[in-house]
Amino acid sequence: MKERPSFPARMPASMPAKIAKPSSALNLPQGLGMDSSAVRRRMVEKLMAQGLSDLLVQQAMGAVERHRFVDSGLANQAYEDTSLPIGLGQTISKPSVVARMIELLRKGVDGRLGRVLEIGTGCGYQAAVLSQLATEVYSIERLRGLHDKARENLRPLRLATVHLLFGDGMLGFAAGAPYAAIIAAAGGEAIPQAWIDQLAVGGRLIAPVVGGTNGQSLVVLDKTAQGVRQTVLEAVHFVPLKSGVA
Ligand code: SAH
Repeated sequence: MKERPSFPARMPASMPAKIAKPSSALNLPQGLGMDSSAVRRRMVEKLMAQGLSDLLVQQAMGAVERHRFVDSGLANQAYEDTSLPIGLGQTISKPSVVARMIELLRKGVDGRLGRVLEIGTGCGYQAAVLSQLATEVYSIERLRGLHDKARENLRPLRLATVHLLFGDGMLGFAAGAPYAAIIAAAGGEAIPQAWIDQLAVGGRLIAPVVGGTNGQSLVVLDKTAQGVRQTVLEAVHFVPLKSGVA
């Protein structure tokens, strides 16, 4: 893979790290002020302190350059545990939430996951993380502008196993089924039946679901030969799952 030019390992001492210069054509992060692999390592250490124990997820979170997926003006916040705007009213999820969900998906799986379906490509960050841990990643986005943005963000990474799809993810993507895992980055009122149908027996689905008066909760659904089993976990805050495309 041909790397894009990397940004300076060090900022000139005279330049305050906070002041972001106008973005350059190369979308180099401004104001990061240090080698991004060191910043990512620190981010992973913080995730581990919060309970991330899966070594493969730690490696994937340490490998993917999150700053490449946000606007250059936000690049200095890219390794903080915060969601950030990615345009069209949508957000890139917090690193701790991405790590948590993927760790839950991998629970009980040795080695790589098989085919994974992601609903809500957004800027493409989570698809890139998933590509480190799965044999194939199918990722659907309903907003054309973000689908195009994700394609642009992912192009330099040349991830041959990531397939970006434009469409309504509430219908899943039957052509890629069955999936070993399905992960939703947007929260609906219920888990669409299409997702359950397209999940392999033995597979696991994880999605934010609106429940009662308490907003969204993370739901894990396991599909077994005997049927489906759902576990409701902690409260989360995702953008809404919407039908149709725009
Ligand atoms: N995984 C993304 C998170 C993006 S936010 C990232 O790493 O950046 C969730 C995304 O879900 C938004 O871009 C939103 O447009 C999208 N979305 C909402 N409903 C959808 C649907 N029915 N099908 C596909 N994408 C959907």
